[in-house]
Amino acid sequence: MRTIYLDNNATTMTAPEVVEAMQPFWTELYGNPSSMHTFGGQVKRHIDQARRQVAALLNADPQEIVFTSGGSEGNNLAIRGSLDALDGLKKHIITTRVEHPAVLGVFRHLAKHGYRVTELPVNSDGSLILDALESTLTPDTALVSIMWANNETGVIFPIEKIANLVKSMGVILHIDAVQAAGKIPIDITRVPVDLLTISGHKLHGPKGTGALYVRKGTKLVPQVIGGHHEHNRRAGTENIPGIVGIGMATELALNGLDEENTRVRALRDRLQRGVLAGCKAAQVNGANRLPNTLNVSFQYVEGEAILLLLDNLGIAASSGSACASGSLQPSHVLRAMGIPFTSAHGSIRFSLSRYNTEEEIDLVIKHLPPIIDRLRELSPFVEDELPV
Ligand SMILES: *Cc1c(COP(=O)(O)O)cnc(C)c1O
Repeated sequence: MRTIYLDNNATTMTAPEVVEAMQPFWTELYGNPSSMHTFGGQVKRHIDQARRQVAALLNADPQEIVFTSGGSEGNNLAIRGSLDALDGLKKHIITTRVEHPAVLGVFRHLAKHGYRVTELPVNSDGSLILDALESTLTPDTALVSIMWANNETGVIFPIEKIANLVKSMGVILHIDAVQAAGKIPIDITRVPVDLLTISGHKLHGPKGTGALYVRKGTKLVPQVIGGHHEHNRRAGTENIPGIVGIGMATELALNGLDEENTRVRALRDRLQRGVLAGCKAAQVNGANRLPNTLNVSFQYVEGEAILLLLDNLGIAASSGSACASGSLQPSHVLRAMGIPFTSAHGSIRFSLSRYNTEEEIDLVIKHLPPIIDRLRELSPFVEDELPV
């Protein structure tokens, strides 16, 4: 049985072109780019090429790209590294309630170490309350960290507006663009952000790879200290196969943005129409979403139970965020949106990629309604009349 993989916001298949591009760097081209000899030195130009490929996706200068081990490290380096550079001069930092744990966790750690943290609320459709951001910025605000697009709902935040507001106050701005990169256009020359994180494995690159965009002139204290790699911003012998891999993945993503926005979006919309038509009391969570994401709540049904029954059919999706599943708490993102407990518990995230087909989507549309009906028959909570 072939898996129908609809969990691409958790991770993606490594593109065959990426695997192929990485191959020589495991075998014949294994030198250390810092070496004096030609054997090592020849690898350097492949890092340079990857840096240009990643920069192109963001319309950035290659010199502004720092390779990391992924989105989590990028977020840590951006937030902690720029606060370290401020040396405690300002003590207020702002984020949102719906961030990925790789930002929220850092903020909650900093809250225990002398920082005053504001977590901005969102509306019921997942959109950011911009007035709340404006009114919370003070002369003591050091940094704002906000995601470009949400991993659970796909909701896109108005980064251009946010950036203009935050930079008019002279505050450092970091954007977690892990979910946005490769799915919607990002042009760093049009949004005045200081730091921006991407991750390789969310855009068909290898796991354990990432890049942090650092705008020229931004002060950043390295968080991995040692050698002088990555323009003194991150010590450690470079993960050459991974760097070559994320380079190729970003090139493919840039070339595929139109497909993402047309074919993948059409598949997602087809899935959404089919699910809403086939299942009673189903509701889509989030407005203004990434083209690949559908987060839908089924009232009076356990999300985990839906997942298990889908899994039996070879359909891979997720409930809440991968990190949150296994705990009994419903997703912090859906709770921040004020989604009622019974709906948040019955929420499923389908996230598509360019490798999905119409046949796969139609199979899900066929198999999901009987699963929901069956589980509702077992549910002690179902009322006689379900809302349509
Ligand atoms: C996956 C993800 C991360 C973490 O990236 P890793 O490369 O897995 O460390 C950070 N932010 C968002 C929004 C994500 O979806």
